[in-house]
Amino acid sequence: MAAWSVHGEVGAQGLAPLHALGPSDADLYKCVHCGLCLSACPTYLETGLETESPRGRIALMKAVREGKVGYTGRVVSHLELCLQCRACEAACPSGVPFGRLMEHTRAQVKEQRPGSLLRRIALRAVFRGLLPHQGRLYALGGLLRLYQRSPLYWLMRRLPGRLGRLQEQLPPFPKRFFRPQAGAFNPPGEARARVALLSGCVMPILHGPTMEAAVRVLARNGCQVVTPLGQGCCGALNLHGGDREQAQAMARRNIDAFLETGVEAVVVVSAGCGAAMKEYPHLLQDDPAYAEKARRFSAMVVDVSEFLATLPLAEPSRSMDMRVTYQDACHLAHAQRVTRQPRDLLRRIPGVTLVEMEDASLCCGAAGLYMALQPVMSRQLMARKAKAILKTGAEVVVSGNPGCMVQMQAGLRAAGSAVRVAHLVDLLEEAYGE
Ligand code: SF4
Ligand code: SF4
Repeated sequence: MAAWSVHGEVGAQGLAPLHALGPSDADLYKCVHCGLCLSACPTYLETGLETESPRGRIALMKAVREGKVGYTGRVVSHLELCLQCRACEAACPSGVPFGRLMEHTRAQVKEQRPGSLLRRIALRAVFRGLLPHQGRLYALGGLLRLYQRSPLYWLMRRLPGRLGRLQEQLPPFPKRFFRPQAGAFNPPGEARARVALLSGCVMPILHGPTMEAAVRVLARNGCQVVTPLGQGCCGALNLHGGDREQAQAMARRNIDAFLETGVEAVVVVSAGCGAAMKEYPHLLQDDPAYAEKARRFSAMVVDVSEFLATLPLAEPSRSMDMRVTYQDACHLAHAQRVTRQPRDLLRRIPGVTLVEMEDASLCCGAAGLYMALQPVMSRQLMARKAKAILKTGAEVVVSGNPGCMVQMQAGLRAAGSAVRVAHLVDLLEEAYGE
């Protein structure tokens, strides 16, 4: 007799009962092995190996599901080299939800093969000890900022080998961090919309001035902006790392904090966070207290470029006179399918010449914690991205995700380039002459 799984599908005959955390059969058996996704996959393009392709990874997931293989070290290494960029999902004509498949697989791997003690401690410290606690993140950011301005940092950067390289990867910490505030930021005239802005975890620390620019650009376009104090990290990094339980707790906290504000939209300047928050309904589908709230909340989530594109945009007055190229953040292009709006908005800035780079939607290798956990592949992909950026002759590369911005800053520095990395709202604010 077939058994109902936690996902509500009937398990195929002869298969072991579905694991509570694993991918559902409906998702897993959707793939028809056509291979049309292969040319979109960054790790396949770099290695040429089927095991490092979406189709190969799905075959491994199926083999585990059918009991033909366990989560051996080799199997896990192929699964972990995946960037979770979801380029395969966007390319797949059969609608295979690869992001969801990999999130569930990672949760299962985390439980069944959690890795060395050191790795478990480090990941737990990040997932449970740091990301859910904004105060600790600000404190750590403050310490790293002090370190970065000290002679010790200068010395450490000159060390040979991995330690010296690590210093180079440390992103520059700005003078100001962004902090959510009570009250509202009002537009100059009458407000035409009331929106909330997600602050997030690393964005307000690494890109505080960009967050401030987002508030001012929204206000300039007639929005009253609130930044609820109860909000926190969206949980995307936990989810991608297999910590679903903590990701669910973080989702509930944000849903409560934002629904309470009564705003029309929750605007996000970080693509990874926007994608995760739009998918809260799946994350909380088995939670009777939050399933409906998650649907209501996710319908309000919108990337800042999507939102601005719906407004009669206040015309930027200042001519910028610059050549700009645009890097599609994976979770904006592939997960949220937002590609046109940021480009259209850039074209609206007087003096900006938008030049497309080769493979603009190919991952830059940042992918959240991937740049720390898979440094070799991450660097390879960034080297490819740096070449594509430099070939355009652009002075500025724009992207809508903090991880991509940090990765491109480090990668372009390593390539000896002074190309500036910016967010769309940075350029818009400058064009408004703020
Ligand atoms: S998510 Fe990205 S890296 Fe992973 S299999 Fe799909 S295209 Fe390849
Ligand atoms: S994931 Fe989609 S595109 Fe890729 S092999 Fe399977 S069905 Fe084909």
